[in-house]
Amino acid sequence: MAASKPQMKIAVLTSGGDSAGMNAVVRAVVRIGIIKGCETYIIREGYEGLVRGNTHSQDTKPLCKTEFTLDYQVAIPQVIDNLRFGYGSLLKNGEGDIDEQGIATTKTLKGKYIVRVGWDDVRSWLSEGGTLIGTARSKTFRTHEGRLAAARNLVLEGINALVVCGGDGSLTGADVFRQEWPELISTLLKNGSITSEDANAYAHLKIVGLVGSIDNDMALTDLTIGAPTALQRICEAIDNINSTAISHSRAFVLEVMGRHCGWLALLAAVSGGADYLFIPEKPPSDPWEEDMCQVIQQHRAAGKRKTLVIVAEGAHDASLNPIRAEQVKTVLSERLGLDSRVTTLGHTQRGGRPVAWDRILPTLQGVEAVNALLEATPSTPSYMIGMRENKIIRIPLVEAVNMTRAVAQAINEKDFEKAMSLRDPEFIEILGAFKATSLLDDSFKLPADKRLRIAIMHPKSLLWLRASDSVGAPAGGMNAATRAAARYCIGRGHTPLAIHNGFRGLLDDKIDVLSWLRVDSWMSRGGSELGTNRTQPDVSLGAVATQFQKHEFDALFLIGGFEAFTSLKILEEARVHYPAFHIPMVHLPATISNNVPLTEFSLGCDTSLNSLVDACDAIKQSASASRNRVFVVETQGGKCGYIATMGALAAGAVLVYTPEDGINLDVLRNDVAFLKTRFSIDIKGEAEGRLVVRNEQSSKIYTTEVISEIFKEEGHILFDSRHASLGHTLQGGIPSPLDRARAVRLSMKCMAFIESQAAKLAKQPEKKRRATSDSAAVITIQGSLIVFTPVREMLQYADMKNRRGTGTWWSGMKDLVEVFGGRTALIPS
Ligand code: ATP
Repeated sequence: MAASKPQMKIAVLTSGGDSAGMNAVVRAVVRIGIIKGCETYIIREGYEGLVRGNTHSQDTKPLCKTEFTLDYQVAIPQVIDNLRFGYGSLLKNGEGDIDEQGIATTKTLKGKYIVRVGWDDVRSWLSEGGTLIGTARSKTFRTHEGRLAAARNLVLEGINALVVCGGDGSLTGADVFRQEWPELISTLLKNGSITSEDANAYAHLKIVGLVGSIDNDMALTDLTIGAPTALQRICEAIDNINSTAISHSRAFVLEVMGRHCGWLALLAAVSGGADYLFIPEKPPSDPWEEDMCQVIQQHRAAGKRKTLVIVAEGAHDASLNPIRAEQVKTVLSERLGLDSRVTTLGHTQRGGRPVAWDRILPTLQGVEAVNALLEATPSTPSYMIGMRENKIIRIPLVEAVNMTRAVAQAINEKDFEKAMSLRDPEFIEILGAFKATSLLDDSFKLPADKRLRIAIMHPKSLLWLRASDSVGAPAGGMNAATRAAARYCIGRGHTPLAIHNGFRGLLDDKIDVLSWLRVDSWMSRGGSELGTNRTQPDVSLGAVATQFQKHEFDALFLIGGFEAFTSLKILEEARVHYPAFHIPMVHLPATISNNVPLTEFSLGCDTSLNSLVDACDAIKQSASASRNRVFVVETQGGKCGYIATMGALAAGAVLVYTPEDGINLDVLRNDVAFLKTRFSIDIKGEAEGRLVVRNEQSSKIYTTEVISEIFKEEGHILFDSRHASLGHTLQGGIPSPLDRARAVRLSMKCMAFIESQAAKLAKQPEKKRRATSDSAAVITIQGSLIVFTPVREMLQYADMKNRRGTGTWWSGMKDLVEVFGGRTALIPS
């Protein structure tokens, strides 16, 4: 097949400290680049590889370029032209060497730092930690000579577009390189290193930055690639430490990474239920020893058997004197007499397989990076790809770099207020949430007449929902949300009333007041501490209203899935008959199915995706180990394909079946054709496994077993097939830190919503209070916004029959699964 002139030659490098998800970036850039008609290269060892370039030009030919004849047309021939060049698998195998300057290199690739890669060279890279293409901290690139050599190497290799994935330093380097580029080209022309044709052809460097950093320290983006995995590692450590701390009634001081940014420490403190926190942006009031001891003494006096203090690596006091974990430990031991220990997590935070979100985020951002390069013109700025809530965004690189530097500068100038104001709003909110949920003091208390009795419930179903319809399940983060609400209530002087076992429990008077200590360990607990129960269909709304009155509820906080949404709708509609329902009512979506209308995320989905990815990684490995095999994996999710689709994207599945799209014979025929093509162009003799994900309710006829049998039958000698159902494992046990942190943040917002709605109602005469429809709302995440949407308005976005939302944001992700799996490229539609 004749190759046409590439659209662009894109090179991708990873730089600075490694982070989980960098390999997913490389995979995404390479595959999308190829699909869009580009040639794709990797640059080994970060900027150092760019400076060194390829010294042995005779070695630049591919290690292997498998030729095959296909007697039919494929959809995107570019994929076949760029199937594999052999270096990708070499890098994955980790062959190593160290050069005279101590830079890691490989024996086979000695003298070769800019390497062409193809579609299959990045196969299975999604699940690999660290960066397979190597990273370095390059002193030479900081010099003008170094950058001149780098520019020359790019021109010599014909590369006109660069993707840099790294932290703020790496992106600063990218910005410097971009700004200098015209001058570098004219110097190269003057000194005869490049021709005038080259100088014209490469007058403009297209460059885009992706933030790969465990610290989450880049301004203007919510989340950096690698931060969720590092946070996961920290929380696993905290959960382990907690049990031993309780056993011995000890204090633990945990030092976590973060030189200039306290994000990891803050999120770990919120998700791990810490007692005290030291971060660079917000030093404690002086003297910190007294402040800390007072807080911890209060917690011990309330009955806590363990103490957890989190210290960011770069923590300091208000005069910029470093605060070290050992110092904190000494203070706890000497002043409070606590048996105290220090745990420094160090590099374990960087390592390990990426969590689901560190596969999804780099994949989506990698796509956006290639699009930004293809759309770039000499007049457009170079972009950094970021994320705001659930929206992938482009931010001018120079703005993000300047803003990030401004935070460090403000800290150096001891202007901590400015440092905090430059962090994104989520950071500030989470710090507020940490204080509200960890401190035991009276300074936040409201006057007695403003205090409320707030009922908290994890409902499964109400009234007309039949027991058999009720498929809801506990979701990771429900308990964390309840803990946050209860602690907030206590801090404000409200009464947090736990209703156990849903509406059934309400009718049975299973209601009690939550105490500060009782909810202490709920952050890390899976399932539902309040319990959910299937309500009898013959329960009357009048009885529910009577209970509301009897227990004097001033507000209701529902944490649950589609059933909670339906229950809220019913209660709001019943306000015409029952005055007891004229109180603020709010629903926080929590369901692994993510099927509540309008909101883009529910609590529990992140935990569930992580469980799915863990299971799929193990299955994929076993599929590769046996022989050419297609594994069909069944997921939960009811009639909503979210978990199957996003799980397929994160696990690197080649196909996904959802209830929304269904399955028919035409689809299956094409999918079988794809699998045959795909297996026939694999390297012979090398075992390959592939995953197909199917939601449990995608089709009544084409069950997981049937599909697997069809694949097996049609695969003949090319591949066989097995199937597995993940079932309840997807409910995930221990909630993920992202679910816990989101639970705390959204729960705080729900409490503020209740307070403001209650204040509005309090203006009406007590006996005649009439709540407006906006006082019964669902907290929803919509793009970059968090919005309280009245439950009435939610109905227009609900498919009540199928118990899911309409117009979901993730529906296009199914196509992306098929793009990355190669289905789109290999089978003409
Ligand atoms: P991490 O967040 O893990 O520290 P980082 O990207 O911030 O990652 P740095 O060591 O600061 O890591 O930067 C990585 C590389 O980027 C440096 O080794 C250097 O090659 C390049 N770089 C950083 N700053 C500049 C600069 N001002 N000019 C040119 N190159 C730079």
